[in-house]
Amino acid sequence: MSYPRLGQPLPLALVNTRYAQSGQPRDALATPAALDAWLRLTDLPLTTTDASDAVALERFRTLRSALRVLFQSVADQADPPVAAVELLNRLSAAAPVVARLEWRDGAARLSSAALAATSVDAALASVARAAMTLLAGPDASRIRACHGPGCVLFFLAERRRRDWCSPACGNRARVARHYRRHRAAQL
Ligand SMILES: [Zn+2]
Repeated sequence: MSYPRLGQPLPLALVNTRYAQSGQPRDALATPAALDAWLRLTDLPLTTTDASDAVALERFRTLRSALRVLFQSVADQADPPVAAVELLNRLSAAAPVVARLEWRDGAARLSSAALAATSVDAALASVARAAMTLLAGPDASRIRACHGPGCVLFFLAERRRRDWCSPACGNRARVARHYRRHRAAQL
């Protein structure tokens, strides 16, 4: 698998299945088989057979588009479109998770259980809820769109001032800036 995996939280990893290679846009979720391959890298509750169809692929791609819009809005410190927020709410509601109390070995244990839903619904809901937690939590302020030339990736910045998803993008940005300055000096 050649697309960038940056150890990002799942919702960002999903958005980053659209990436650029040598300035060309690439899509790691172009076919149902590609979705299968991606899902196997995650711990989403989804069986391969469920995911291998065009409808499931389209649903994941729709969620991915909404997440891109949401993360871009947050990176720009703007309010996202209502439709993108509502998609997350709808996907979450389609596969509710309830708290469960169990008594085992003389001790109470808390677990959660998914209410009846298809595994595609459950997987989409799981990504949607991870995105909700990220967007409404303290890490939201660390969501960045990479400023690397031609790069379309999103990432969580470890430091407040970090504009690049990777050292490679940082280098490309520095080279581009140097080139621009050099050109400006020549004109
Ligand atoms: Zn980048």
